[in-house]
Amino acid sequence: MCNYHRPVCIKCKVELRCEETGVIVVDFTNENKRPYKAWSGDTWKCPICSTEIVVDFGRKGTNIDKPILSRLQERHKKGEQIVACYETIYPIPDKDTYGEL
Ligand SMILES: [Zn+2]
Repeated sequence: MCNYHRPVCIKCKVELRCEETGVIVVDFTNENKRPYKAWSGDTWKCPICSTEIVVDFGRKGTNIDKPILSRLQERHKKGEQIVACYETIYPIPDKDTYGEL
């Protein structure tokens, strides 16, 4: 018996479908708007209205240091989706604008 329920779209009243695993979500500090923690989750999508969410994060995020940020930037440049929380306010900085941690 499965004790796990798939996410549900309230509007459409259907279960979402898992679209992609291993999607990276980046959190930013409030003070200086720098990325500080990365999480790996799964993207689920509503088959009717196409609403997408990221859930199923691991228990611990990864603290972002310079080498990890560089790897994230490279993956992002190659087209991998990196979801930055509050992306419209705090985009993932590129190497030129990021500066020192
Ligand atoms: Zn829906």
